[in-house]
Amino acid sequence: KLYNQVQDLKGNIRVYCRVRPVLQGQSSHSSTVDDIEEGNITVIVPSKNGKVGKKSFNFNRVFGPSATQEEVFSDTQPLVRSILDGYNVCIFAYGQTGSGKTYTMTGPDDLSEETFGVNYRSLNDLFLLAEQRKDTISYDVSVQMTEIYNETVRDLLVTDGSNKKYPLRHFLFLCEIRNSSQNGINVPDANMLPVLSTSDVVSLMKLGQKNRAVSATALNDHSSRSHSCLTVHVQGKDLTSGAILHGCMHLVDLAGSERVDKSEVTGDRLKEAQHINKSLSALGDVIASLAQKNTHVPYRNSKLTQLLQDALGGHAKTLMFVHISPEPDSIGETLSTLKFAERVS
Ligand code: ADP
Ligand code: MG
Repeated sequence: KLYNQVQDLKGNIRVYCRVRPVLQGQSSHSSTVDDIEEGNITVIVPSKNGKVGKKSFNFNRVFGPSATQEEVFSDTQPLVRSILDGYNVCIFAYGQTGSGKTYTMTGPDDLSEETFGVNYRSLNDLFLLAEQRKDTISYDVSVQMTEIYNETVRDLLVTDGSNKKYPLRHFLFLCEIRNSSQNGINVPDANMLPVLSTSDVVSLMKLGQKNRAVSATALNDHSSRSHSCLTVHVQGKDLTSGAILHGCMHLVDLAGSERVDKSEVTGDRLKEAQHINKSLSALGDVIASLAQKNTHVPYRNSKLTQLLQDALGGHAKTLMFVHISPEPDSIGETLSTLKFAERVS
């Protein structure tokens, strides 16, 4: 039994790498990705003497540029399903701006069923499975949507009252994190809405994205500088015994991991960059110390890791998608992304 527990812990952190295709309209069609084989990726690294070097990295899986949304999700599905058995799960999208984080988690702007990202597919799958089990267990699914910007947490599922479809409890933007909470509800101030179908999820996510855009008027491309988090809460009731179980899953589209040149940015932009830096390295520290099974896990160093504490470590399961932009001028960021990923795996 102990052996099984050890195995289970070992399997609690998985890292998948996904390479975005070279986008149309790029002047060059060359890619820094030399080879992908199972869990191995080899990138071409220019060296100082003008020669070309190569570097290889190993992950649980590597998805090449032609991988479909369906293929990417099929590996994620067992993890998602485990929340119906009472597990807590965190799924992250990490990478520089433009590397495909939002594409993986949500999908492209012109969303269709084929291009649905992990968020929609996960909820869809949970609804399907809950339906199959409905004679023995009754499940309630609800969602929260928050963002972390400059170390403050905001509720994204808010309205000014004009939205008649959702009974939003209150209009509240800034939220506190309470870590001693029950059932993984550690942002109790943020609206939590029941969802019954994928179309409910689609319209709530649209509302959340609209609110994100509203707060962004002063800053262009605010979305790449905040972490957004869709949290799915599941409560299952065993219809014979009456036993209740809770599972929760955070689907996190992280802020862009690119380093900004400190000599070039000042003021708000510098502050943003420092907050992002701090929270991404705090996340790296937490996952790395979980992977090394350290006794002390430094959750308190950022809002992001505090928010996710119940779903990181212990019996919780973590999946990190690291995203690579294949263009040669991204090689510096690509290497730092791959190194980050190697450290947490
Ligand atoms: P990020 O969220 O990391 O900033 P995006 O997800 O917005 O990056 O991706 C940048 C652009 O690349 C978008 O236009 C997106 O639709 C496109 N893109 C990203 N990944 C893929 C992919 N796997 N296949 C096709 N297009 C993609
Ligand atoms: Mg994005």
